[in-house]
Amino acid sequence: MMRALILGGIADASQLAAEIARARIDAVYSYGGRTRTPADQPLPIRIGGFGGVRGLADYIRRENITHVIDATHPFAAEMSGNAVEACAETGTPLIALERLPWTRVPGDNWIKVADVNAAAAVLPEPPTNIFLAIGRQHIAPFATRPEHAYTLRFVDPPEAPLPFTADMIVSRGPFTIEGELEMLRGRGITCIVARNSGGDGARAKIDAARMLGLPVIMISRPQLPERLRVESMAEIMQWLGHSTRLGA
Ligand code: NAP
Repeated sequence: MMRALILGGIADASQLAAEIARARIDAVYSYGGRTRTPADQPLPIRIGGFGGVRGLADYIRRENITHVIDATHPFAAEMSGNAVEACAETGTPLIALERLPWTRVPGDNWIKVADVNAAAAVLPEPPTNIFLAIGRQHIAPFATRPEHAYTLRFVDPPEAPLPFTADMIVSRGPFTIEGELEMLRGRGITCIVARNSGGDGARAKIDAARMLGLPVIMISRPQLPERLRVESMAEIMQWLGHSTRLGA
């Protein structure tokens, strides 16, 4: 009997959950537990870490999981790495839904860096207004550059104090180009730090930056272990033995 585990937490994973529910495949949707009010899913939900590779392997065995779909954010490297190891250990087929990274188009002024520390190191010298479009768990390195005024945007208000003073926007989105233009202009932002998430959901700020001629310090994706990887939901459904109506 097939029973799939979706490692989720992003919009693509919700769309996949809807498709899997429509196909009446027995599946569980797993959230990492970062947001306080995770979106409902048309599948049973579980929330929170599994407890590393061992915990995930135990979960797979206990719950009779036959297929694992890694539909986490491209920067959720620990979860993705654990999934590779736990699936190898339990002999469970694994597939990753991984959207393409954004690529530069004419007019983009990107400074590509490998990680958050490198991003903090290449910030402009003169004090300026910077939009840090990265998750709260990654902002600590910017405390080393206190000369700048930072704007942060989170889904929930932070529970713990931030490592430095910053203006905060609390919003789940979705964000439009018009909205992003207004926000960037209104706050006098001159530089954006972003991660190369790919996809349409987070793209508006990158398009807005190009329109305003602003530099984007673009953090590249982390390296992940070798695994079966596809870009579309249709390929996941095919892998599960079903065709999809979305043609995505
Ligand atoms: P991470 O660093 O790779 O994960 C850290 C730990 O959180 C994992 O080792 C695992 O704990 C637990 N975890 C992560 N995703 C999980 C899931 N879907 N189900 C159960 N446990 C999970 O990941 P992260 O960057 O903190 O992201 C956490 C979650 O937020 C992911 O599900 C991701 O899809 C979502 N998200 C992330 C971003 C982002 O920018 N990184 C953006 C939007 C949404 P154990 O080792 O205890 O199993």
